[in-house]
Amino acid sequence: MIFKRISKLLSSSDRKITDNCCQSSDSITFGLIKTEPIPTNDISGEMAYLSSLHCPCKEPFTFHRLCSFKMNNDKGEVIIDCYELLCRKGTHHYFLYFDMYHPQTSKKVPNNLTFGSPEGRGWNNFLPDFDTIKFDLILSHILKADRYKKDIWLLGDSNKMLAHSNEMLLARDYMDKNDINNAIQHLDMALLIDHKWEQLWIYKKRALIHLGKIDEIRSWCDKAKIVFPNTWKSICKDNDI
Ligand SMILES: [Zn+2]
Repeated sequence: MIFKRISKLLSSSDRKITDNCCQSSDSITFGLIKTEPIPTNDISGEMAYLSSLHCPCKEPFTFHRLCSFKMNNDKGEVIIDCYELLCRKGTHHYFLYFDMYHPQTSKKVPNNLTFGSPEGRGWNNFLPDFDTIKFDLILSHILKADRYKKDIWLLGDSNKMLAHSNEMLLARDYMDKNDINNAIQHLDMALLIDHKWEQLWIYKKRALIHLGKIDEIRSWCDKAKIVFPNTWKSICKDNDI
């Protein structure tokens, strides 16, 4: 069942949106800021769009959904999705915004990007360890993450909460013992169940500081700015880096 759902998600990337490729948008900030989201038709439209997108060196991307939030625009209240993208070579990193409540998926591309064959890989959920996953391995990470989320979900909401706090406690225990690698594993599990807890983001940043992973700390803070637009400073105090 899980595999069916995943393969359905992934196969949606086969849908061709590359005909008449590629109109670049009139606006250089198209898709790059939340007030100019990319119109798509449903989640399958987002998946098809993201899978076909290529970076300036013509490589496909890996991607995951960082957040969704409500926003008011001229149509009233809309829900915006934000995705993080990293190209296969690991050199091009983007955050893109989508509005999936449109009858058709846009054929316009953000500045400097193009459409190509639908080789991109990702899903419409959060992957806590996104930064460290290689292009060829992302599908197995997604299957594992989906399996874990699904198992917890099947146990009911209260067990989801319980699993969440359990993972967090285990992570804290390992942090106290200075076993940072194990701490991160449990933090990632907690983040997978529910990544909208600031405290988890603070713990993970501390763990990354322990490991001296400067690039990952920076990237974690870039994400925090998007997920917590009003309070990210509590997660990313500059003097910590
Ligand atoms: Zn690239």
